[in-house]
Amino acid sequence: MSSNEAGNERCREREAEQAKSASPDLREAEQAKSAPPDLREADLAKSAPHDLREVDRGKNASLDPRDAELASGGRPETVPSEGRPQGRTDASRLPGPPVTRCHGAGRTPVKLTLFAAGYCTHRECLTIRGGARRTIRFPAMFACLEHPDLGPILFDTGYSRRFFEQTERFPGRLYRWTTPVYFREEDSAARQLREAGIDPDDVRTIILSHFHADHIGGVMDFPQAQFVYLNEAYESLRIRQSAMAMVMAGFLPGLLPADFDRRSRPIDEAKQRIALPDCLLPFEHGYDLFGDGSVIAIDLSGHAPGQIGIYFTSAGQEYLLCADAAWSSRAYREYAAPHPLAGLIKSDWRLYLHNLQRLHELHARSPHIRIVPTHCGEWRESAQ
Ligand SMILES: [Zn+2]
Repeated sequence: MSSNEAGNERCREREAEQAKSASPDLREAEQAKSAPPDLREADLAKSAPHDLREVDRGKNASLDPRDAELASGGRPETVPSEGRPQGRTDASRLPGPPVTRCHGAGRTPVKLTLFAAGYCTHRECLTIRGGARRTIRFPAMFACLEHPDLGPILFDTGYSRRFFEQTERFPGRLYRWTTPVYFREEDSAARQLREAGIDPDDVRTIILSHFHADHIGGVMDFPQAQFVYLNEAYESLRIRQSAMAMVMAGFLPGLLPADFDRRSRPIDEAKQRIALPDCLLPFEHGYDLFGDGSVIAIDLSGHAPGQIGIYFTSAGQEYLLCADAAWSSRAYREYAAPHPLAGLIKSDWRLYLHNLQRLHELHARSPHIRIVPTHCGEWRESAQ
């Protein structure tokens, strides 16, 4: 069975399971988690939605995806029109509910611009319960927050051409098999920022939601930046003994600069911890990253250990960039989890579901807060 057929087979199995029962995915998640590690890895490799032809395409960093028929048998759901800007949007133009301010939140506003640096593709039915078998794009978005005193601050960086260098050989190549990536040099975070009038050397701070390759891919292009993240996010990877174990955790250490440790400013969880305003319930605690209430990190672990989202105000609008705690806006709106097979690449499936459920509750309680998942096609389309 080819990897495509394997992916289709799993989608069909999933549809059959849904027909039998509409109950939540926890039982299946438990089954998936209880599989022995070697079996889980084998399944993960088998589930690669694309075959070797796709890998060879991925090798070509200059591939223009707009002309590429995806190896999985179809075009992605969204295809940008020619001539449109690739990644930038004025956040104040984005659609959303009327603004109702959280009392006391976002004391120092910042100016948000969203970009995307490349994308990968997956079968929709693997990424969300009830999804179709079509192939969809996962834009690798990153955000620039212009702070009145600290200058431009990045939240993640998207992909870069280094992804292809780092996945040229085994075991990194396994990453490409499971995640076909599309990226052109003009998609890089540094280049897009430069075109937006921001010198990459002026970026002094990069907040890392977690250390998967589509989030840290561009950090080397910002030599003056310091890195802010939750300790657990990095430590959980450093203790891994083998290159294979790192790849299985979605981490390609070669994407980090040699002086990463020296430039790291991990969150001081004791000193920076704050109580959150009621409008952010059920989230009760966060971390005031710069001591001025401008950007608050919230622990949204589960997709990866120590994965954070950030809460802030831009142009009078509150945002929570939730990174991969939800893969789409529909996921938190409807509390629709991914296929349990996708749970195999999550560090803690139960915690992931718990935080997804909390995002769902937050959205219901405070719909004025724009919750933006990194890979959500809805936001990506707004950004064009
Ligand atoms: Zn991730």
